[in-house]
Amino acid sequence: MEKMMDRCGLFGMFDNNGFHTSHLIYYGLFSMQHRGMEAAGICVNDNQGNFSYVKDEGLVTEVFDEMKLEKLQGHAGIGHILRYDGSDARENAQPIVIRYTSGHMAVALNGGLTNIEEIRHDLELKGSVFQTMEAAEVISVLISRARNNYPTIEEAIASIMPMLKGGYAMLVMTPRKVIGVRDPQGIRPLVLGREDHSWFLSSETCAFDELNVDYVRDIQPGEIVVINAEGSHSIQGMQAQPIRACIYEYIYYSHPASVFGGQEVYKARYNMGCHLAKEAPADADAVVWVPDSGLAAAAGYADTLGIPMVDAFVKNKYYGNNLVKPEGILFDRKIHMKLSVIKSQVKDKNIVVVDDSMVRGTTAQTLVELLRHAGAKSVHLRIASATISHPCYYGASMPEEKKLIFHEQGVDAVCKMTGADSLAFLSSEGMVAACPDAAGGFCMACFNGDYPTK
Ligand code: SF4
Repeated sequence: MEKMMDRCGLFGMFDNNGFHTSHLIYYGLFSMQHRGMEAAGICVNDNQGNFSYVKDEGLVTEVFDEMKLEKLQGHAGIGHILRYDGSDARENAQPIVIRYTSGHMAVALNGGLTNIEEIRHDLELKGSVFQTMEAAEVISVLISRARNNYPTIEEAIASIMPMLKGGYAMLVMTPRKVIGVRDPQGIRPLVLGREDHSWFLSSETCAFDELNVDYVRDIQPGEIVVINAEGSHSIQGMQAQPIRACIYEYIYYSHPASVFGGQEVYKARYNMGCHLAKEAPADADAVVWVPDSGLAAAAGYADTLGIPMVDAFVKNKYYGNNLVKPEGILFDRKIHMKLSVIKSQVKDKNIVVVDDSMVRGTTAQTLVELLRHAGAKSVHLRIASATISHPCYYGASMPEEKKLIFHEQGVDAVCKMTGADSLAFLSSEGMVAACPDAAGGFCMACFNGDYPTK
């Protein structure tokens, strides 16, 4: 409801087995629908270097049907799902497809660049015209201009990487290659997979699990990996810096079954709940989890304190983008469209609610209201991450700084606002300790203002 939403998911492949490329990309994107629901797109490359694509606003299942997938015939392709806050998701759907001196090129991006407007303005002064607001289009122009000066597309990409400030993972497809690129600090995730002689790139490993593709490894910070008819090879596009992977991928964004840098997401969330229980125990009769991302942390919290965990919230599985949202008088009635409560699970009980994070505080307020209305004796809120007080510039679509609940307020004031009997958060140290298997450090800038890029 009020979570920060990641901008986008990526899935690409180079087929050397006779697989049905567009269908596999479709299923790969579908398995990562949680990363963006505003638009979806797939571009495929036939054996002659001709690109065809379909992209539009909507869920993966709304944008594609069997007929469209059948028309997308090719041996290689890249796909994208978009999370977009504006009203023109159709216009900004990716992949971006252009023609340049070496033929077609398609680009899809997950992430955010802090200097994209400067680059765009500079290119406009040099005569470039842009159709979208997407950074992917700006990058496609940068690569096409650089390509004339370098013998390979990967070297052209390496030449423009120092210009890109921020956190990103991207896929680039040319007539003979599919290329994956990760920013030099590894802020945004990208993983490599393989089945027989075919190679895959994805934002998350959950897509590989769904397709029975073997996970090979994470793309390293600053690495450019090329998959093509010969297999896969890499060059170092930029010197790798100490890794600063987005910790919010573990807290909320990613599918619980996914693994990044050696750390399983579910296990990280469970550990966060365990650490939260040690840091902020509550005297309660039952632990209630918040669907869906609060489940693992609530289990860790309940197990650590030996308090039973109960199912109290039921999520309406038909809730979605197309629902007419209540406004005006209807909004004032506080219609809770997404969640309802099983009263017998909470009536006359002291309840501790565990959620993964708090952005604006409106969801927490709703949870407390629902539980009190259902007869809970007391409601204690426990959040399995630290307080979010800074905006993200690396691709998380989140409210402007002044709309973050902890921009100006402290925990006591927010507790009062939510109506809870108590409120506590996991410490930053607790978040890091919950990810013992992760290789390297984390970006935690939205929690502590320490941005990996200046
Ligand atoms: S600022 Fe927050 S959401 Fe953005 S990359 Fe860093 S940890 Fe992730």
